[in-house]
Amino acid sequence: MKKKRSEELGKIIKRIDVIKKNRPSHKEILDFFKYIIREQHKIKPLIKTERIDINEETAKKQMKEGFPLIDKKDINPDMDSAVTLFKNICKVLQRKEKIAPEIKKINQAIRNKEIDLREIFGRLIEGDKGYIEFIANKSGLHTWLLTFLAESSIKPSLEAYADMLKGHVDQESWWKGYCPVCGSQPERGELRIDVGERFLECSSCSFKWRFKRVVCPFCGNDDSKKLRFFNTEADGKAYRVDVCEECKKYIKTIDLRELNVEVVPLVDDIGTLHLDIIAEKEGYKRGVPGILEMEKMGE
Ligand SMILES: [Zn+2]
Ligand SMILES: [Zn+2]
Repeated sequence: MKKKRSEELGKIIKRIDVIKKNRPSHKEILDFFKYIIREQHKIKPLIKTERIDINEETAKKQMKEGFPLIDKKDINPDMDSAVTLFKNICKVLQRKEKIAPEIKKINQAIRNKEIDLREIFGRLIEGDKGYIEFIANKSGLHTWLLTFLAESSIKPSLEAYADMLKGHVDQESWWKGYCPVCGSQPERGELRIDVGERFLECSSCSFKWRFKRVVCPFCGNDDSKKLRFFNTEADGKAYRVDVCEECKKYIKTIDLRELNVEVVPLVDDIGTLHLDIIAEKEGYKRGVPGILEMEKMGE
């Protein structure tokens, strides 16, 4: 298990280094993610996950009716390890010149008990982003950064749930735009070699589920005239941006069939940040906002 885990991390870091070479302008953001991913991997073996016993019949029924396997309000993720992870991430990010002053402010707010990490994690899991905004404004903290760090800290715990429950997901009967494990929205998509179908990756628990190709996962629009995708000559057909004219959101899709190297979708997604910039300029919003905000922070 341990070996597998370090192999996985090695693969991610190797991919980051390859993309950094091809796209030197994205070096900074790739390094930022590298630090976070490394800390997330370190904490994984220490995460304690409560057992959830799901009856096979109940699971089937839930899948059919469009209810995710877990209700995030009802679970008890390992808050201790999330707090440790948050602090560890802050420790490494403090070395990054641009971001250090913001991290310092967050650390101070924790020490002064102005912010309570457990409370923040709990609210985030419940989907209450307004709370973080409120608390960040009150303490003069960067809302997006605080949200992102908190999300990154609970992610490994949510991934542990997905790992435990993935066997109950029926890929043939779900077909929803939200995650069958936890109900969150997709972060990105991929087109696979084996089935030629689209898979979506959950923004909270990283589970990947099958989804129709010509449907917007965010608003359900399935009118092919109102859905299109674009790519750039420089990046090639492998990296595309699927946009919806109905809700004006987009999702980045990596066409694995076009690539003969082993990719790490998360890394390749960050490595094609310029596509997000184009999409935003054209008036579309990323379904689950994220990396562009990071880029803006450095300005
Ligand atoms: Zn999920
Ligand atoms: Zn849409």
